[in-house]
Amino acid sequence: MRSLSGVDTLVVKVGSTSLTNELGTLDPKQLGSLAGQIAAMRKKGAACVFVSSGAIAAGLSLLSLKRRPSDIPTLQAAASVGQGLLVHAYQRAFARRRVPVGQVLLTQDDFIRRKAYVNARNTLQRLLELGTVPIVNENDAVATEEIRFGDNDRLAALVANLVHAKLLIMLSDIDGLYSSDPKRKGAVLLDRVDDVNATDGLRAGRSQSGIGSGGMASKIEAVRIATASGVGVVIANARRPNVIADIVRGKPVGTYFPPRPGKARSKKLWIAFARAPRGTIFVDSGAKEALISGGKSLLAAGVTGSDGAFDMGDAVDVAGPDRTVFGRGLVNYAAKEMPEIQGRRTDGGREVIHRDSLVIL
Ligand code: GLU
Repeated sequence: MRSLSGVDTLVVKVGSTSLTNELGTLDPKQLGSLAGQIAAMRKKGAACVFVSSGAIAAGLSLLSLKRRPSDIPTLQAAASVGQGLLVHAYQRAFARRRVPVGQVLLTQDDFIRRKAYVNARNTLQRLLELGTVPIVNENDAVATEEIRFGDNDRLAALVANLVHAKLLIMLSDIDGLYSSDPKRKGAVLLDRVDDVNATDGLRAGRSQSGIGSGGMASKIEAVRIATASGVGVVIANARRPNVIADIVRGKPVGTYFPPRPGKARSKKLWIAFARAPRGTIFVDSGAKEALISGGKSLLAAGVTGSDGAFDMGDAVDVAGPDRTVFGRGLVNYAAKEMPEIQGRRTDGGREVIHRDSLVIL
């Protein structure tokens, strides 16, 4: 059962492939359908933030570029051309239901810089109080994280936390999370997943559409961020009729990830989640226990190895002896320094990750 009754604030995120037709151009019918569903929720009193991709897709067709280019500046230029078209289309669709919309373009750095974070939160809150639907996208002209890695998945989770949403609905071209590769026989759609950390074998792989840049991996990452900060998540198919209303009513649509129990919205969470992890630090069982139960900092003595090319200050995953990730934090050393310090007592030295910059997942 899903206890979604009383969802008063929700974030709906839709990916590029779910907004375009076979030719890769914006699909006005699909846009209109989603706008209509969100406007209906808004009219019922729910505060809705809409995180929509599709700027690049819209821009590519306006620039007569048939295929998605691989160089980032061209993608950014396409997003710049397409964003206006995208929001204009939404503005018209929402206006039919007399719901005003407001465009908010964010970068992940806005979630780290305190001033930008507070400003973004105030603006979104005011937009919601004024009865509008904020339409959020990554500010692609100045940031490239989501273009490269996630088609706004992470951004949507950060926004859900920012507005204290109860629920994040992630709509795409997949029905949800499957027990195994959905292209193979015997794969079952999972109705509910309580522990997102147990999903490692369940990935559906990256989207093959050639339109967006997301995939199951970036969705799972978004689920991690949202559920760890007290937001439930549903991953579902954007083209299912009435998908949003049915999810909010608690119908078994897509895959539901309940919020992790007892997880406070801490400021720490921002620190660890606002940036993509650049590597993994492996620790022994004693250190794992000290971090999870003892609320301690991670010291070099408990580190057994590391992966990735992180710098000092980057976010890294923390994994135990079985290589399962159980935490994330900001690391005080660069990857190249790790072999030298790991397993050693560094009396009086820096912690590898200070407890104030460490989140247990
Ligand atoms: N912000 C981008 C957009 O709206 C991300 C999607 C992508 O990578 O295609 O187009």
